[in-house]
Amino acid sequence: MAVDPTKPYNSENIFAKMLRGEVPCSKVYEDEWSLAFHDINPQADVHILVIPKGAYVSWDDFSAKASAEEIAGFVRAAGHVAREQGLVVRGYRLLGNVGRNGGQEVPHLHVHLFGGGPLGPMLAR
Ligand code: 5GP
Repeated sequence: MAVDPTKPYNSENIFAKMLRGEVPCSKVYEDEWSLAFHDINPQADVHILVIPKGAYVSWDDFSAKASAEEIAGFVRAAGHVAREQGLVVRGYRLLGNVGRNGGQEVPHLHVHLFGGGPLGPMLAR
């Protein structure tokens, strides 16, 4: 079911459970601010999800309420993972879905990091 980004954060979502260690994930990176792990249903050769550790529903929630430190930590983590995965030279794509039109399914902010080969057009038409 599509996420309603105007609703309060629900700490029973799957990514919150991963952050608490209640559900396993295939971790690729973790620091004070962020966690990154492989997507369970990859849409590209490399498909990693990067999430902030704070309780934010979406990019909208995060950009409005997160501290400057949280925002910097999250943005730096996404860049760090891309470099660490060797994606920079050939290029990659970052994608953030918000709400129904964006197709967001998990109500904890995440960006998708895609790479490993040509990624095709930006949007299906
Ligand atoms: P959204 O549509 O919300 O932007 O993307 C949610 C992503 O989370 C999807 O790509 C989906 O495959 C991934 N996902 C959902 N449940 C799990 C899970 O339990 N583990 C992992 N690693 N990824 C998940």
